[in-house]
Amino acid sequence: MSKITVTILGTTAAVPTRTRAHAAIYIDHSSDKEFCCLFDCGEGTQRQILFAGLNLMKLDNIFITHWHGDHCLGLPGVVDTMGFENRKRQLNVFAPESQRVKKCLGFSYSIGKINVKTHDVQAKGKKITELFENDRLRIVSIPVKHSRAAVAYALFEKDKTGIDLGKAMKLGLPEKGEIYRQLKEEGSIAFGSKIITLEEISSIEKGKRIVYSGDTEICENLRKLASNADLLIQDCTYFEEEGAYKHAALPEILKMVKECKVARVVLTHISRKYQSVNALKKLIKKYPNVEIAEDLMELVVE
Ligand SMILES: [Zn+2]
Repeated sequence: MSKITVTILGTTAAVPTRTRAHAAIYIDHSSDKEFCCLFDCGEGTQRQILFAGLNLMKLDNIFITHWHGDHCLGLPGVVDTMGFENRKRQLNVFAPESQRVKKCLGFSYSIGKINVKTHDVQAKGKKITELFENDRLRIVSIPVKHSRAAVAYALFEKDKTGIDLGKAMKLGLPEKGEIYRQLKEEGSIAFGSKIITLEEISSIEKGKRIVYSGDTEICENLRKLASNADLLIQDCTYFEEEGAYKHAALPEILKMVKECKVARVVLTHISRKYQSVNALKKLIKKYPNVEIAEDLMELVVE
C-alpha cells in the first residue's frame, strides 16, 4: 500500500513573515520504494527541510513553477549542500525558461561538482505534458496564467490492478493457488468448461492525484489539471480581490473546487497582509474540504 506525505515547507507570497517562509513543497511517495521530489524551491528551502525533519539528499527531482524569486532562490543553496555532502547521483531540475537554471546555479559553490540535468517545461498551450514516470507514478505539468511563464504541476499515481477474491470465488475459483499467477501472466485461463479472464476478476484501485497550482489566476488549464484531484495545493494570495497581480483569490477558488470535484484543497502563497490564521479560518468555516496552509504542515494522502 502506498502513502504520500506532502510537507508544505513555505506558505507566504512574495514577502516572508516570522511564521511563513517562501514556497516549497516536499513530496514523499512511499510504497516498496521511496520517491521524493520538490515542487518549487523558495529562499530558505533547505533550512525548512531541516526543521521538517526531512532529507535533502533524497531529492532527485526538483520542479520549479516559474522564475520569481520567492519560488526559486533556494535552489543554489540546496545544490551547494548536496555538493558538500558529496552527492554523486544526478539531480534533475525541471522548469519553464530552463536556461535560467544555469544562471540561478551560477551562485552555487558546488556547481560543476554535482551533476545537474536541466529539463525544459512547456509553458504555452493547453496540453498536459508528461515529465517523469516510474512504475508507480507520473509527474505532469500544464501552462498557467501568471505575470511570467509559469506552470502547475501534478503527481498522478498509477491505478493499481489487483485480484478481487469475491468475484473470483463467485466464479468457483479457489482462494489461492497457482491459477492466479497463470491468470496474471496469460490474461485468461481455462477453468472447467469456462474461460476466465483476468479482467473479470480484477479490481482497480484508483491512483491518488495531487496538484500544485504554483502562482496563477484561475484558468481553464488549471481546472483541467485539478479535476478530481484528491489534494490541491492552491495559490490563494488574496482572499477578496479576484485576479489581482495574476494570482487567485478565495471566491473563485471555491467555485473551481466545487465544479472540478476537488476532494481537499489547501490554500497557500498567502499575502503577508493576512497575519491572523484564525481570521482566515473563519472565512472558510463553511467548507470542510478547504484548509489554510501553515509552514511545515504535513498532509498525508493514502
Ligand atoms: Zn510569482
